[in-house]
Amino acid sequence: MNDEPKSGRPEPRSFAADVLARDRRYVWHPFTQHGTESEPIVLAGAKGASLFDADGHELLDLVSSWWTCTHGHSHPKLNAALAEQASRFEHVMFAGFTHQPAADIAAALAAVLPGDLARVFFSDDGSTAVEVALKIAYQYWINRGEPRRRMLIGFDGGYHGDTLGAMSVGRGSQMFSAFRDLMCKVMVLPYPATFEGDDAVEEREAGALSAFEALLADRGDTVAAFIIEPLLQGAGGMRLCRPSFLKRLVNTARQAGVLVIFDEVATGFGRTGTLFAMEQAEVAPDLVCLSKGLTAGYMPLAVTVAREPIFEAFLGESFERALPHGHSFTANPLACAVALASLELFEQENTLERIARINRRHRDMMTELALRPNVVRLRLIGSILAFDLKAGGSYQSAESRALRNWYLAHGLNIRPLGPTIYLMPPYCITDEELTRAYQGMVEGLDRLASGALSAP
Ligand code: PMP
Repeated sequence: MNDEPKSGRPEPRSFAADVLARDRRYVWHPFTQHGTESEPIVLAGAKGASLFDADGHELLDLVSSWWTCTHGHSHPKLNAALAEQASRFEHVMFAGFTHQPAADIAAALAAVLPGDLARVFFSDDGSTAVEVALKIAYQYWINRGEPRRRMLIGFDGGYHGDTLGAMSVGRGSQMFSAFRDLMCKVMVLPYPATFEGDDAVEEREAGALSAFEALLADRGDTVAAFIIEPLLQGAGGMRLCRPSFLKRLVNTARQAGVLVIFDEVATGFGRTGTLFAMEQAEVAPDLVCLSKGLTAGYMPLAVTVAREPIFEAFLGESFERALPHGHSFTANPLACAVALASLELFEQENTLERIARINRRHRDMMTELALRPNVVRLRLIGSILAFDLKAGGSYQSAESRALRNWYLAHGLNIRPLGPTIYLMPPYCITDEELTRAYQGMVEGLDRLASGALSAP
């Protein structure tokens, strides 16, 4: 028998080995310690909530591929929108040019965002959306003739991306100590992370609010803006705050004339149960950053959306007043076309109801998890279920890597954030797939507890 594959492509096993050989020699992966990390999985396909490796093994994508995938992988409607736009044109510089996909998605976002958030600046990813927001906030005060307002406020546990400005406001995540000297000046304030059955939340909120109020009372006229991930700090460990706390922060900032920046890069597009997390607190910021789910996880695209008065502060005769910022791929038409199709899917597929169904399943699971001795601080919001391991552990600790590897070996893409285990599935996940996810998740936990956790 002839072993040559009919397609002319190598056999799956040698195909994966071949990709891995080149990866090992030439690629530097993100957030990866190459000295200890196991080999990456070679992906060959994805559909719905599932990923398929080169050997055809299925993995449930329970972290939505770093929280990007919303409606599911390889969705026919999104594939079609991408192909349709590719058949017209792929890209054009966005200074001096515009196009329908950009104008349409900008208008569509303005229609679904609360308040008068309606002026859309495009960039490429969550970090750049945050950089743009910080630059807008900083220059806004210069343009307004109040250059004293230079200070930024962030929160303990906050994370906003990996570029310099984003790292500075995310220094409270403790991830970037090597770069401390390069960072700009940011005040980091306490954040009242809360969880199910938390009976000290009011006390912590009061402490956090009084620190915020005291800073603004003392030096409010030197503060340009504060930035927060509304309701849920993602990379900081899926840490929740109550909507009423967020509302009080915003009101306090407004009274002191401080700009409000919401980083909805992770929370946007349904993750917390509403299209945007801020809706639950009935507040709107001056600037909001969106990315990840914006294109349903298809393409790198981000927006920083400003209220109109912010935009107006940049108008004038001189270029000095304009925002000196732009990327080669600003408002990439392929990405904008997919983003528009994705937003339409929220209506067409009744996506918020799908998220509510996931939330109900998570709630039932939470009751079961609460009985486990090694599970503490359960959290539930929208499509996200999270908890901490009682034993603790740092980011990429040996235990968290062993657990991750066990999950991968058992068909589950679950990636613990240090001691925090969480599920954030794509919204298309079926009941059967959720059941599989829960069963595998608790089996991994039980093995960890009994010391019998070893990946093959
Ligand atoms: N802000 C938040 C809240 C995020 O969760 C992230 C990424 N996890 C970012 C910003 C940075 O986004 P990106 O990785 O696309 O640069």
